[in-house]
Amino acid sequence: MDRVYNFSAGPSMLPLPVLEKAQKELLNYQGSGMSVMELSHRSTFFTEIIAEAENLLRQLMSIPDNYNVLFLQGGASQQFAMVPMNVLTKNRKVDFVHTGSWSKKAMAEAKKFGEVRVIASSEDKNFTYIPSVTSNMIDPKADYVHITMNNTIEGTVFRDIPDAGNVPIVTDMSSSILSEDIDVSKFGLIYAGAQKNIGPAGLTVVIIREDLIGNAPAHTPTMLNYETHRDSESLYNTPPTFAIYMAKLVFEWIRDLGGLKVMEEINREKAALLYQCLDESKLFTSPIDRKDRSLMNVPFVSVNGDKDIEAKFIKAAQGEGLETLKGHRSVGGMRASIYNAMPKEGVEKLVAFINKFEKDYV
Ligand SMILES: *Cc1c(COP(=O)(O)O)cnc(C)c1O
Repeated sequence: MDRVYNFSAGPSMLPLPVLEKAQKELLNYQGSGMSVMELSHRSTFFTEIIAEAENLLRQLMSIPDNYNVLFLQGGASQQFAMVPMNVLTKNRKVDFVHTGSWSKKAMAEAKKFGEVRVIASSEDKNFTYIPSVTSNMIDPKADYVHITMNNTIEGTVFRDIPDAGNVPIVTDMSSSILSEDIDVSKFGLIYAGAQKNIGPAGLTVVIIREDLIGNAPAHTPTMLNYETHRDSESLYNTPPTFAIYMAKLVFEWIRDLGGLKVMEEINREKAALLYQCLDESKLFTSPIDRKDRSLMNVPFVSVNGDKDIEAKFIKAAQGEGLETLKGHRSVGGMRASIYNAMPKEGVEKLVAFINKFEKDYV
């Protein structure tokens, strides 16, 4: 087999057993005589798939009963607008924690619907850390406070979720959902594009507390109103059926591994290996504050800012089956995204390669 270790930030690797199961069922899904892609979304076969996907996600994340799980489209980027359209509707004030490119985009959309206040930002140091956020910083009259949980491009992760009192916390969890065991009840709304830790692109998962639904103004387009999707159990129109099926297989894979506690343990081991290697390296370094380092996205740069070495490294790594290590254009350098589906062996191979490359160059 010629599969590579793909360090892409998204779409990213899928677990091999999931791809194999999908391949096995591709032509004839459980005796239906057709593939999941060809099944009616109203068929029993598919309604069972979507119900089971929801059940599995509820079990994995221990989602409380007063939260709805919605399977939508449009990506996290659509949620940047859909959240304010539905939730920024009472006092029309929202507090934002600004931690990078994605929070910037989310703020730009929210500004179209209300007053955005930045309560904390790490822009002063190029987003290489997470600013501290305490309860007293949050406006009790804000409709919600927005946090980007894991900053995919910058490589930081939010750890200390503040107690916001009655103000719901909305979080973009696109690049860290299912990577750690988190307490859903701390949040009013969680959204995530699927293409990092859930499944293929085209599916967006929203986990929303019941009271945050039903507050959109009457002129809100039907498809952009959470109420529509809650009332129709994500089957108002044709949902991304195959992506939902793949997500169900990924949820089963995580369950069979032992759930989120085990997943988190594996992710901590993988990240520790890579950060230790970078901390010991004389050639490369992680620009991120230790306490805020992401378990999922690990940017690194040459110690001297040597662009030639970086380019050589990326090319040579590719030759070894270590793919897509180029950093985001806004940050430069390298980035290794090591989501759930990246096996420990992939990280070990990358670490061995960094060490060997360094030996040859220093
Ligand atoms: C990838 C990503 C997005 C954008 O997701 P789309 O599904 O492409 O719209 C937004 N926020 C974060 C944190 C991401 O990682």
